[in-house]
Amino acid sequence: MEKRVRFAPSPTGAIHIGNIRTALFNYLFSRSEGAKLILRIEDTDLTRSSKDFEKLIFKELNWLGIEWDEGPDKPGDYGPYRQSERLHIYRQYAEQLIKEGKAYRCYCTPEELDKDREESVKRGDIPRYSGRCRHLTKEQEEEYLRQGRKPSIRFIIPDDVIIAFDDMIKGRIEIKSDTLGGDMIIVKSDGMPTYNFAVVIDDTLMKISHVIRGEDHIYNTPKQLLIYEALGFKPPVFAHAPLILGPDRTKLSKRHGNTYIGQYREMGYLPEAMFNFLSLLSWSPEDNVELMSKDEIIKKFNFNKIHSANPVFDIEKLNWMNQHYIQMSSVDRIVDLAIPYFKEAGYIKDVDDKTYEWLKKVVSLFKDGLHYVAELKDKAKMFFDDDIEYDDNLKDDILCGDAMKVLKSFKEEIENMEDISEESVKTLLKMLQKKIGVKGKAFFMPIRFAITGQDHGPELVMIIPLLGKQKILYRIDKAMKLIS
Ligand code: GLU
Repeated sequence: MEKRVRFAPSPTGAIHIGNIRTALFNYLFSRSEGAKLILRIEDTDLTRSSKDFEKLIFKELNWLGIEWDEGPDKPGDYGPYRQSERLHIYRQYAEQLIKEGKAYRCYCTPEELDKDREESVKRGDIPRYSGRCRHLTKEQEEEYLRQGRKPSIRFIIPDDVIIAFDDMIKGRIEIKSDTLGGDMIIVKSDGMPTYNFAVVIDDTLMKISHVIRGEDHIYNTPKQLLIYEALGFKPPVFAHAPLILGPDRTKLSKRHGNTYIGQYREMGYLPEAMFNFLSLLSWSPEDNVELMSKDEIIKKFNFNKIHSANPVFDIEKLNWMNQHYIQMSSVDRIVDLAIPYFKEAGYIKDVDDKTYEWLKKVVSLFKDGLHYVAELKDKAKMFFDDDIEYDDNLKDDILCGDAMKVLKSFKEEIENMEDISEESVKTLLKMLQKKIGVKGKAFFMPIRFAITGQDHGPELVMIIPLLGKQKILYRIDKAMKLIS
């Protein structure tokens, strides 16, 4: 049988890292097993779904390089691939279940259901549907309709059975039907199918062989299995991937930082770093080599080796990986990524060829130390503003002793210099130390501090030519005023 997997996100929020990891596992399964990957948009929750969130799903998957074979934008034999376009299909199966006595119309109002829930909580029971509408007569139904009640459709959950399945990651799972909340709604009163119902029909009609999703769905699986059985469908193989945790070992959420993948893109994390990092959440290659290209990951990936323990989202590891991929990137690529940050910060407007060449030199100074590209906004700030801020804590320790003498003589030399290049600056600094008799730290630190405001950073011979005469003179004057 042909292997087919699917990624089935709901466009009800900016796509979460956990969902992207599910997409990635489906992708890696498909590419390593020769399976087809289907993208299905589960947009039946009308109030929470939006086209904008759907667009983000496409955007982030494309960014990461997760390609699918069939989907809303890729015609296939089993479409449409958006649930909102498949309502007629679900309706037909719901009718079938009613006819066969496996489902029924429920006219309970939200108020009645709330009251039931309150009472079961009072009794200390797990809330479950009372079954009030299970055996309505035709007359009772007509009466409810006359009252203007809109029915939902409930599927009958049998009492006292154990539903079991073998999960590819979690192993054997057995769940008692009594814990499932009673007869479940499969079609809401607005006519929309619920997730547990639509998913079974779609996975069956789309010929999905393996369902790979987050373990937060594990309690949905027995409900779905009952529907498979009722409709006479053969269930797929299930694999529930362990949820990603934050550093405090609770489910990864906004409290831990960014959970929308696009926030990482926007900060200048590279897609290959993210792809590599996410692939290692719950999986590791046999040779334990962690830095891998997409092709290497696909080659080494083995779905049977996914661990069942919950992985922790370790931002430091991501930073380390991203730093590696930034180092491996061309300067041009990093400059192109940095330009929007520089524009946003008001550092630059339009970039002509000359500015681009200059930016390349500036970015090169920091490139290999970056965790993510947006860090350049702070790190390279001194190259853009005329003014810089001097670190007050350092001021007195650095601008003392011979500092005035150093700055004055340095200023004079720079003023008269025609060509400020790496070479000429190197010569100048050497010459000046001899001439004024101040050497080493006592010489370099006041200059560095005066022109950068800090006591560390890239080498002076690199910084000075890139800053240019005007900025240097302005800053030296400013620092000298701090002394006097
Ligand atoms: N729409 C569901 C979700 O995003 C899909 C779950 C599944 O893969 O079955 O959680």
